[in-house]
Amino acid sequence: MLEKVLIANRGEIALRVLRACKELGIKTVAVHSTADRDLKHVRLADEAVCIGPPPSAQSYLDVPSIIAAAELTNADGIHPGYGFLSENADFAEQVEKSGFKFIGPTGETIRLMGDKVSAKQQMKRTGVPTVPGSDGALPDDPEEVTRIAREIGFPVIVKAAAGGGGRGMRVVHNEEVLLSSIQVTQSEAQAAFGSPVVYMEKFLQRPRHVEIQVLADGQGNAIHLGDRDCSLQRRHQKVIEEAPAPGIDDALRNEIGDACVRACLDMGYRGAGTFEFLFEDNAFYFIEMNTRVQVEHPVTEMISGVDIVREQLLIAGGAPLSIKQEDVVLKGHSIECRINAEDPRTFMPSPGTIKTFHAPGGHGVRVDSHVYSGYTVPPHYDSLIGKLITFADTREAALVKMRQALDELVVDGIRTNAALHRELVTDTSFIAGGVSIHYLESKLEHEH
Ligand code: ADP
Repeated sequence: MLEKVLIANRGEIALRVLRACKELGIKTVAVHSTADRDLKHVRLADEAVCIGPPPSAQSYLDVPSIIAAAELTNADGIHPGYGFLSENADFAEQVEKSGFKFIGPTGETIRLMGDKVSAKQQMKRTGVPTVPGSDGALPDDPEEVTRIAREIGFPVIVKAAAGGGGRGMRVVHNEEVLLSSIQVTQSEAQAAFGSPVVYMEKFLQRPRHVEIQVLADGQGNAIHLGDRDCSLQRRHQKVIEEAPAPGIDDALRNEIGDACVRACLDMGYRGAGTFEFLFEDNAFYFIEMNTRVQVEHPVTEMISGVDIVREQLLIAGGAPLSIKQEDVVLKGHSIECRINAEDPRTFMPSPGTIKTFHAPGGHGVRVDSHVYSGYTVPPHYDSLIGKLITFADTREAALVKMRQALDELVVDGIRTNAALHRELVTDTSFIAGGVSIHYLESKLEHEH
């Protein structure tokens, strides 16, 4: 069992990790930039260390400072949260080499899944369905490339193996522009990610984003906790998530979940992870794996009763997985709205001081947020100020609760996207369930 965990993150996820640690009797170390002295978890942690100035590169991404803070405070584990260093294989290795437990998979696994070509190959090996496409990196021979594209069928999408954050991708609609498009993507990939390697796959026209949550202990045990639908996105940023994904039957959900479990066992996966899929015409197509806890993990916690962060901590402490697949019972429906400090129409960030914050409550309402009345949202980091999560027996009831929760929410002094959420939870297509990943952007285009 871990005794003292350093939380290498900020905001709501840092608080989420702190809570799980406290419940397990694990001591906590908060690290923070000079802009983040007033974060709630910094005040609640057993110890706090200032690791640098506001820019992330000099604080939350500064590996030597974080490791020095762990040494200074005698922590034995480091939780990376999401974003920042959470999927940095070198960091994970550095943490372990310095004698601390990295609360996540090994650097080797992160590297394997961080390269999209190797990740896809790993999935194919264990029977996880992938998007039809080139078998690995694209070759240099233009004729061969054209043959591959014809075989897949246009439109195709050219993607950087090292890409991330929705960048390094280009859709190609016809053969005339194929080779030039590949060249542009290659040079962009080289500039942005330091590797020109690209691959090609079928461009799915109206997919949904559906993902599977897994937990594995690296000791031969792995389970899945069902799926989440995160199709409501803007610029590849998820806006609303829910579990389970509407309209997918249990047999298919379990079949894909079992394939993910096989993949975890095959690669000796350790920790929490998410397999992301595009879902179209009732079929799953793997796109990438996230080797960390995700923003939207609470919706899965609500329907499964499993505390995912607690499990991360127990696994990192060396405990075998305490839950078996047959113990997992998914019940009810959960929805999450990401509340951002941003203008609901222009989406411009809106940092500043929150004069009044009032969180909604009641049966089946959960608020994961680090903000409070008088808290100042700094301009340096992402704009997520909290997550509103509801849970009920049915999707309809969870939506009713969400409407009520959004009405109760008060955030005065800065602008938030709450108005957008209020609109979305009364949107007829969203209420019907199963909209594609393009739905939100096309709705915004037409209405605003
Ligand atoms: P990133 O790591 O940059 O997030 P992903 O591989 O997860 O890259 O893809 C990001 C997004 O790009 C997907 O959520 C989807 O919207 C779109 N996308 C990726 N691959 C395809 C595809 N084959 N067909 C259609 N859209 C795709």
